[in-house]
Amino acid sequence: MTTLTGYAVSHWGDDPWARGSWSLIGRDGTPDDRSALGAPIGTRLRLAGEATHPARAGMTHGAYEQGVAAAVWAAGLGHARVGVVGAGIAGLAAARALSARGVDVQVWEARDRPGGRTTGAEIGGTGFDLGANWLQQYDENVLARLAEKLSLRTVPTDFHDPLVLTGAVPGFAPDAIEAELRARLQAAPVGSSIADVLDEWLRDPGPWDPRAIRRFVDAEIVMDSGAPLSWLSARYGFEPGVGEGDRWIVGGYRLLVDHLAEGVDVRLGHPVSRILTDAGGVTLLGETGSLRADAVIVTVPVGVLAADGIEFDPPLPATHRTALSHLGMGRVEKVILRFGTRFWPSHPAGYFRVHGPADTCISEWLDATPADGRPTLVGLFAGDWLDDLWAGPDATIAARAAAVITRAVATPA
Ligand SMILES: Cc1cc2nc3c(=O)[nH]c(=O)nc-3n(C[C@H](O)[C@H](O)[C@H](O)COP(=O)(O)OP(=O)(O)OC[C@H]3O[C@@H](n4cnc5c(N)ncnc54)[C@H](O)[C@@H]3O)c2cc1C
Repeated sequence: MTTLTGYAVSHWGDDPWARGSWSLIGRDGTPDDRSALGAPIGTRLRLAGEATHPARAGMTHGAYEQGVAAAVWAAGLGHARVGVVGAGIAGLAAARALSARGVDVQVWEARDRPGGRTTGAEIGGTGFDLGANWLQQYDENVLARLAEKLSLRTVPTDFHDPLVLTGAVPGFAPDAIEAELRARLQAAPVGSSIADVLDEWLRDPGPWDPRAIRRFVDAEIVMDSGAPLSWLSARYGFEPGVGEGDRWIVGGYRLLVDHLAEGVDVRLGHPVSRILTDAGGVTLLGETGSLRADAVIVTVPVGVLAADGIEFDPPLPATHRTALSHLGMGRVEKVILRFGTRFWPSHPAGYFRVHGPADTCISEWLDATPADGRPTLVGLFAGDWLDDLWAGPDATIAARAAAVITRAVATPA
């Protein structure tokens, strides 16, 4: 096998400060749950973060916009001192927007670094991403504008035209399958799952090739959610975002995060375990002490909220708890692999897809070689095989991942 000269592996599934990759709408939910979760709780407390964006959830620019919206709300109420929980994109955006409005702000972050679900690793001196990778919906992405302002180099990925290395279905017509699937999903009653709709379609596929339907669902829904199809909402579980001019940042999201964190009072290693709201203000409590503020903006992922990672006193209102119960987190893991020699083909999309060994087992691969000219792939993994693949030490996981792509390139089908 081609020699692996460097690697890094993500662990979003068992990360206590993430508890998954990004938020999704479950079978009982609607986008209104996202708005309900982000609605102010009185005049002193508000949840922000990607999950609260009704239209741009699961993405960094959605997180940014929600952070700013919460900051505008808090500053508009005249609060002079605001606490922010979480120094991901939403928390940093909130803190900057508050500071710009003359508000005194302190951010409490559980990890020893800012950035949250944007993080990466340096391989051979170049930064690559293990969390968010692309600036999605590029034309209307506020972070894309920031990347341009900072003169960061970005590289486009054409998600509509990846090279399918294994599991290609002859005559595969994704646009036609997507149109039919979306029509079926929209017609499904609230409360039904994507699996319900898919199973019914596959029982009576008519002129459609069942293998092509499965391939489409694996590539567009399993890969883009990392959640069980039986949990995902039929109507709302297939959210937009990917394939709208996406570009990845050479050097990684860290370059944006470093800029956003500059000058912000972020207290790293400060996990918040309790938030106490009373008539006079809000107190954040954690193992490192306490912070008293006029108002608090909480940007932790829904996985953390659902696992009661923070105790709210008084408890979150029923509307927020109901909304939370309708949302969840999927699991997509990533691996960065650097090889001694390049063994994969060039393809204009800069992106490869590998189906199998079974349905719902999928990996996709970004050719990250343009970052510094050395042979590097970033693999994204989702589906039923993750529990087996992501077991043991990182070196073992990286070797397994390398075997998947090496085999796929050697024996395309
Ligand atoms: C593998 C992967 C790939 C992705 N790909 C993309 C992509 O290509 N493009 C894209 O736009 N988005 C992508 N995303 C999603 C994107 O990373 C997130 O939507 C976005 O970063 C969320 O920002 P946030 O500020 O809402 O939350 P987070 O980044 O999760 O920030 C919340 C912060 O709160 C902290 N925290 C948690 N609990 C506590 C506590 N108790 N006390 C104090 N702090 C706490 C966390 O440590 C974290 O720093 C990807 C995510 C993953 C995991």
